[in-house]
Amino acid sequence: RLHNMVQELKGNIRVFARVRPLLTSDLSCPNDQKERKEAMANMCESATGQERKETWNFSFDRVFEPQCTQEEVFEEISQLAQSCTDGYNVCIFAYGQTGSGKSFTMEGGSTNETVGMIPRAVEQVFQVTEELKSKGWEYTLEGQFLEIYNETINDLLGKGEFDKKKHEIKHEKGSTRVTDVVVQQLRSPAQVRSLLALANSRRTVAATLMNERSSRSHSVFTLRIRGTNTHTGQACEGALNLVDLAGSERLNASGAGKDKDRLRETQNINKSLSALGDVIAALGEKSEKSDKHIPYRNSKLTYLLQNSLSGNSKTLMFLNLSPLAAHLNESLCSLRFATKVN
Ligand code: ADP
Repeated sequence: RLHNMVQELKGNIRVFARVRPLLTSDLSCPNDQKERKEAMANMCESATGQERKETWNFSFDRVFEPQCTQEEVFEEISQLAQSCTDGYNVCIFAYGQTGSGKSFTMEGGSTNETVGMIPRAVEQVFQVTEELKSKGWEYTLEGQFLEIYNETINDLLGKGEFDKKKHEIKHEKGSTRVTDVVVQQLRSPAQVRSLLALANSRRTVAATLMNERSSRSHSVFTLRIRGTNTHTGQACEGALNLVDLAGSERLNASGAGKDKDRLRETQNINKSLSALGDVIAALGEKSEKSDKHIPYRNSKLTYLLQNSLSGNSKTLMFLNLSPLAAHLNESLCSLRFATKVN
């Protein structure tokens, strides 16, 4: 059972749980219509826990049921996303096992209804900057799209074949730079959509038993915004980071343990996801002790996002969940992870 939190949203870290709907591809009997219908009904029953005696209760800042549309989900994050235009550093993550709906939530489909949070957020930022023009604000928007695979950074907007360059993270004067990566001037939502399509086609995907196109890497889209006001001379700088995390499934669940490369991949994924959990949990406790050590350096992902997670920042994590009874244990792991960071 997932509950919406009754209290007001607290602090700068929120967790929204989203359960994806059942899909016809979840069924293992593809041909017979009647069998499919029955199987679907059975699966819904077990998915809603009616067959199990045990219940677990978890509370989140928001809970999105399977029928929630992308538009409804975006409504809940649009204020947060556009706060980068006010100088905030915003991070939005999608966490969950492979097949739980992370990419659907972040990138989404190709129709207007199914388009995901990244293109919607980008469009919103463009819209807000356009509206603020009349108040004297002029903005520059820049984007980069990186992938972290096996603790190595790849530039998804890099030129030509997958770049073999070594990219390093530099923190200078409160801003973060990654060496030798393409930082693209962003001019319109349509241009950003084609950049996203290019980047996605380059993402490293490896086959696992759970999902043929399982993503074993984190992708980090960063939009940087700089504004100056020609009337008042004010300046502001913010960033919006949208992160589709690698699948959180444990080793054996994906059959990954059988292969050495997969084992290393999975260990790196586990390491970086727990490093992220540690950082967010430490940030959540920070208010009590201001000199607390935050372990950003334990993974590339947290080191890359250090400036966006600290200081003037807002963080949101989507916890994506599968409705299938067969995935119950993975779902429980995800739910416990999210409880730790919330
Ligand atoms: P992940 O990125 O976590 O591996 P995907 O986003 O690829 O998972 O989702 C797995 C499948 O479920 C995809 O076919 C996707 O289109 C579908 N899906 C996920 N969430 C939804 C949703 N809210 N509505 C409809 N289909 C969804």
